[in-house]
Amino acid sequence: MNAGGELALIAKEVAACEKCALYHSRKQGVPGEGPPDSEIMLIGEGPGFYENEQGRPFVGAAGKFLETLLSEAGLQREGVWIGNVVKCRPPANRDPLPDELATCNDYLERQIRAINPSVIITLGRYSMGKFMPGAKISAVHGQMRKVGERYVIAMFHPAAALHQASLKPAILADFAKLPELLNEARRGLGRSTAPAKMGPETAEEDPRQLSLF
Ligand code: URA
Ligand code: SF4
Repeated sequence: MNAGGELALIAKEVAACEKCALYHSRKQGVPGEGPPDSEIMLIGEGPGFYENEQGRPFVGAAGKFLETLLSEAGLQREGVWIGNVVKCRPPANRDPLPDELATCNDYLERQIRAINPSVIITLGRYSMGKFMPGAKISAVHGQMRKVGERYVIAMFHPAAALHQASLKPAILADFAKLPELLNEARRGLGRSTAPAKMGPETAEEDPRQLSLF
């Protein structure tokens, strides 16, 4: 099955999933969204109030701020895949529990396998914990690490940065460095498309680049 087909199948499974207790209180599962060939996957924590209403990730205040952060890197949300470590809203936005994270993990693994991104950006500690167990966000934010076949960048959660004014300049600066890190990841994976040297004519041949630069 191609990536788009697998993502659509996962979305269907999530909509009907009853594998963990979070299905009791959800209105709509939020599988995540974005192009099946996204170079970048952004992975947050779990749906909040508005996401649960709409079935889409990051559509509330944190989502608005995430769009601002992406524009710092010359990106638009339509050009990247956006999802979460748990697909259903925890009651009253409580933190996801270990067994909920473990049960839902299979969907995310399948999404990553289907998309095969060069870079995964983790938003918040539960997402970071999956790829960098034991890491401290205050120490590693904005840094890129090779994890398996791809690169992972840990970012503060946009909602945390919205509520803690001191984090805002840091998260803005971290996203501003993203184009540079993305080039480093491309080189490291041999997927280099040398966007810096790419003229507008050749850029049109690669739709991934259009959204980036
Ligand atoms: N916060 C998250 O972590 N994910 C969303 O989808 C929305 C807010
Ligand atoms: Fe299924 Fe994940 Fe929703 Fe739990 S959070 S019911 S595992 S889709």
